[in-house]
Amino acid sequence: AGFTVAIVGRPNVGKSTLFNRLIAERQAIVADVSGVTRDRIYGTSDWNGKTFNVIDTGGFVPDAHDEITRAIARQVEIAMQEADGILFVCDVTTGITDIDDVIADILRKSKTPVWLVVNKVDHYERQLDAQEFYRLGFDPIFPVSAISGSGTGELLDAVVQHI
Ligand code: GDP
Ligand code: MG
Repeated sequence: AGFTVAIVGRPNVGKSTLFNRLIAERQAIVADVSGVTRDRIYGTSDWNGKTFNVIDTGGFVPDAHDEITRAIARQVEIAMQEADGILFVCDVTTGITDIDDVIADILRKSKTPVWLVVNKVDHYERQLDAQEFYRLGFDPIFPVSAISGSGTGELLDAVVQHI
């Protein structure tokens, strides 16, 4: 039960890094109590007194490009059915790829809210590069660095407004 957010995107954009950042505190507590492994894909996040569930998708991804696109599209469709909101993660260092375009096409039809996260914005120059992602049709966009945590506060503010 409760508000659930799914993290989707192609491989290596930083979905799992973002997931770990969003749930870090709770995860440490759970690991201490029950000894669960760190690579679980369901977590809980707290922000400003509001709690929501987070799902990290994309554990298994095939090698061939066509297969990758199909597998990711399937994960995105499932996420749209299961979640109350979607974090669509892209990578500023690669720019928009054809798989990003495929995912964006699916998500633009979503009835649930979609937050476009442009990850790996580790320094100011990349803030400028991130503007390219407005072309995918989501507004606002959320430039973040999942590694440093910068920008994730603004993202969490936007998410919990929907709870
Ligand atoms: P996933 O496949 O989408 O789950 O991506 P991962 O979370 O496994 O990250 C893929 C790679 O991107 C790893 O080498 C991460 O360290 C790196 N990465 C993730 N977030 C950031 C970030 O904010 N900045 C930079 N420079 N690298 C990142
Ligand atoms: Mg991952």
